[in-house]
Amino acid sequence: MVGRRICLRAHQISIMPTSPPIDLPTVTIPCYRCGYDVRAQPVNGRCPECAASVADSRRLALIPRRPAWRDADPRWRRRILTGSWILVLMPLMAVLQQFQWTERIPAPIFYDVQRGQSLDESCFAMVYLYFMFCIGLVLLFSKERNRQPARLDWTQRWGVTGSYGVLLLGIPAYAFIMALVIIGIAALLQSMPLRYQPAVTPLLVKLGTGYVYYGPHPTLLAEASLACCSSIVVLLACVPLFNALRSSGPRVPAGIVLAPLALSAVVQVGYVLAYALHLNPVPPDWVGNHFFYFNPEALASWFGDPGRIFFHGNVIAEAAKWLACVGIAVWLTIAQISAICRRRRLVRTASKRNRSTGTQEALTSR
Ligand SMILES: [Zn+2]
Repeated sequence: MVGRRICLRAHQISIMPTSPPIDLPTVTIPCYRCGYDVRAQPVNGRCPECAASVADSRRLALIPRRPAWRDADPRWRRRILTGSWILVLMPLMAVLQQFQWTERIPAPIFYDVQRGQSLDESCFAMVYLYFMFCIGLVLLFSKERNRQPARLDWTQRWGVTGSYGVLLLGIPAYAFIMALVIIGIAALLQSMPLRYQPAVTPLLVKLGTGYVYYGPHPTLLAEASLACCSSIVVLLACVPLFNALRSSGPRVPAGIVLAPLALSAVVQVGYVLAYALHLNPVPPDWVGNHFFYFNPEALASWFGDPGRIFFHGNVIAEAAKWLACVGIAVWLTIAQISAICRRRRLVRTASKRNRSTGTQEALTSR
């Protein structure tokens, strides 16, 4: 009986899952450059395929491929979280304009002639969408430290370049109107008697007319390229967002949350390409209304009149995109809060253990 028990115990030990350290030959150690299995090579040797250092491959194999959210780079986590909340705030200005609150909020002024300016009249209302888009997306593409390089890491540099490209392509959309406004102000100032004219008048004339003469003008092609570029950037941003969601939850819900963003980006790129090829699959005012990946006016108009216009394609698409952004931001916020709570709990437990060890040591020394 005793012998049978011992045999059973020995069998249990033999089938128990073990986690051998990384330097044992049972674990695959891929070469960091070519992926060849270098576990049989000496530690100070070279990869037989590409001559990369085996020591480097072993060191990199210890770094996790995709760490859990709580163990991931804290700086990357903060940036992803901030970026996702910035995307949630994209329709804010349009909603404020819809309820005419921007007319009541004072804007900061730089010249005396701007006195009494509201947020609605300031250039901030025009550039809000582009700057928020650029800042939010660049934060999403930030580099994650302490993880192995992945196949889709190239999306980071192209995503950052594309985000700044959106900012540049947006210039004709807002700078032309700003130039016209500056010319209007300059004309108003020039109509005043010469001795009352502010000193800034010649500068305003030069700025406004200089842009209208030499700057880029808003055309349908510029707006179509802006729509295309912003959609591609959002499509690329789905990669870091999926990584973030995947590190803090299961794969399928992460894909479902991201699907509206990715699908609408693909549809928008398809429309723009068809438009560029003169296939005209869209109504003539399509580009004018959808000059950007996010079209918050449609959503804001629904906020202004919820009952009447929800069952419109634009509003449903915008609502799906915005709800996806809200879902991502809430998901990651919950993951971040639980990570912070876990860290605090660990710190508390460690400090308690240190204190008890210290007390025991003091008692032993006495
Ligand atoms: Zn190699």
